[in-house]
Amino acid sequence: MKKHNFSAGPSILPQEVLLKASQAVVDYNNSGLSLIEISHRSKDFVDIMENARALALELLGLEGKGYKALFLQGGASTQFLMVALNLLEKRAGYLNTGTWADKAIKEAAIYDDIYEVASSKSANYNYIPKAYDVPSNYDYLHVTSNNTIFGTQMKSFPKCDIPLVCDMSSDIFSRSIDYSQFDLIYAGAQKNLGPAGTTLVVVKEDILGKVSRKIPSMMNYKMHIDKGSMFNTPPVFAVYTSMLTLEWLKQLGGIKAIEKENEKKASLMYSEIDLNPLFKGFAAKEDRSLMNATFTLENDNLKETFETMLKEGGINGLNGHRSVGGYRASMYNAMPLDSVKALVEIMSELESKA
Ligand code: PMP
Repeated sequence: MKKHNFSAGPSILPQEVLLKASQAVVDYNNSGLSLIEISHRSKDFVDIMENARALALELLGLEGKGYKALFLQGGASTQFLMVALNLLEKRAGYLNTGTWADKAIKEAAIYDDIYEVASSKSANYNYIPKAYDVPSNYDYLHVTSNNTIFGTQMKSFPKCDIPLVCDMSSDIFSRSIDYSQFDLIYAGAQKNLGPAGTTLVVVKEDILGKVSRKIPSMMNYKMHIDKGSMFNTPPVFAVYTSMLTLEWLKQLGGIKAIEKENEKKASLMYSEIDLNPLFKGFAAKEDRSLMNATFTLENDNLKETFETMLKEGGINGLNGHRSVGGYRASMYNAMPLDSVKALVEIMSELESKA
């Protein structure tokens, strides 16, 4: 039985993408060779890389606006330090909205002064701080658009005169916002894009080349741009699968179309959390994430029954992160509405049993 996959990442991918990707591993385009055994310098793979980079910019509405898309390695965690190495000269501002933002701050602090413009750490990150100033003499401001662990999401972004850097690992391509308000976006592929192993970086070229330090080649965005995202051997399977997901999204009608689906799923999920007295939402209502809904079961005595029902209903990956507890329903782009319906039915059945 195909399961309902609520995993936070690696997570659900469109079934047709999985089928095409697995076919390519056996025989790429009837070439008699596997995608993962051809040279990354072959025309076949160079075309894949170029297509993936172009699609990323097109879907984000950033074509022809001075941005470059790169498919790098080392996960979003490597971006925590790469951002600092490439952009941090004197001081940067960071909005601390969760564990990943906190980790980004720690990495950047190795290189220079970091100023937390605001933090919700003392409330276990259950909300997004809103009122704060961003000094205009800072090198950049770093924010995290969606806090995967806590289920909070920024609904708007600060207007500032300095470059805005955003970790979009868990909500990129999920909602129609003005992506040109950001100067650098990065996202680990393993949520809305593809398998783990590549990280999409979208960077406005004119913010680069301004720091005085020497940057090692693999850490240097400019080097990766100059080499067409092929400075070294790229993660060919992850890039190909990401390209397939981007093609799938484009065919569906792009971000605007998927956003409608994501809103339907989230609204179904949150109305059950709010109406069912057995459950309680974790995140502040106005900051609730469309991608990750975090909630707890109020009565511990029902835990075993609930979890047995989840198992029998084929619900996978619903456990909350250890720092929040309870449950987390991750509803990324590829998740069908029917999976959310299946979960919500189990939650309301539990209510009728209790
Ligand atoms: N940022 C966010 C918002 C995340 O959710 C994650 C991972 N789940 C990371 C960064 C770290 O990503 P990676 O494991 O690719 O380094």
